[in-house]
Amino acid sequence: MRTSRRNLLSALAVTATVVAVLGPGAVLAQSAPASAFRDTAIAGWKRRIHAILDRNRLPIIDMQATYIPGTTNVRLMVGFMDELDIAQIAFAAANVPTSAPSLDLYRVHPDYFIPATNSGEYPRWWNNPQNFLTGVTAELKTGQFFLMGEHEFRHYPSPEQVAAGQTLRDITVPIDGSAGQALFQLSTDTGVSFQIHYEIEDRLLPALEAMLERYPKANVIWCHLAMIRYPDRGSRYTPTYITSLIERFPGLHFDLAVPPPGSVYTPSGARDSTLYGGDGKMKPEWRAIIEAHPDRFLAASDYRPPVEPQYKMNMQRQRRLVEELSPTAQHLVAYRNAWRLITGTQWSD
Ligand SMILES: [Zn+2]
Repeated sequence: MRTSRRNLLSALAVTATVVAVLGPGAVLAQSAPASAFRDTAIAGWKRRIHAILDRNRLPIIDMQATYIPGTTNVRLMVGFMDELDIAQIAFAAANVPTSAPSLDLYRVHPDYFIPATNSGEYPRWWNNPQNFLTGVTAELKTGQFFLMGEHEFRHYPSPEQVAAGQTLRDITVPIDGSAGQALFQLSTDTGVSFQIHYEIEDRLLPALEAMLERYPKANVIWCHLAMIRYPDRGSRYTPTYITSLIERFPGLHFDLAVPPPGSVYTPSGARDSTLYGGDGKMKPEWRAIIEAHPDRFLAASDYRPPVEPQYKMNMQRQRRLVEELSPTAQHLVAYRNAWRLITGTQWSD
């Protein structure tokens, strides 16, 4: 055990401490009440997944979604989830000072929502990422959060912002800077996964690879597989390259939250959803990689309130994408990989 981890664990120590194994090589000290909270939450999620399986439907855990308290229509979302066999959404709150709203949402609908720490998609992350992570570290100590939200390290303005003429979210936070180091270390120490938004640019890849090499036990979810918004900047990002990353870095995962097949990113004019071929199906070379490494890919919506009315359409498209895979890969990508990252244990029936 390295000194840094010992320090964290002693900082985490609370009365009646038990140690729960959360993932390969990762431990997090938890109080007995925290442990009971987790057991109850996990049992509820499992029950709902089983209920969907019992109807011969493929349950989906939506691993990437941004909750805006007061704006997200929770009742509508719960209805969509029942209609579309979405087992759970890991909802990371944004535009709020703490991650408490995600936990509050879980308490109201415990079988539906997975508490996640705040999404790093708003100024509190960009302007002071170290401070943001100090808060996340304290929240993880409670044992009540199961995922760390999406952290923007390189982000171009989203299509909605482009349409509105905004460039606010043209973001760069160096992934190998102090905040990146702290985030990768936090995942290493706790076993809790985190998501990154990292636009595809050749010049950014060495820093990410260096971090993955330095923190082999960090569980990293690189969001938006093959969403390439400026093709001339990202010529290295090919299925072969992604295979090499998967083979080198055991904690690296990808989610399939991508725009529709015909989507064009207006500022570059590029068709950015390169996962899809011209026929609207997954390109064979990408499908082959997912089939070869089905434990590294996750279903996700990239929900945020401006696209709430499209949630149904987006998740139907996500389901069609997942259902292009073999049955074994379908179950892994739809919910079992998410289950492993969220609970620290393999799915078992
Ligand atoms: Zn994103």
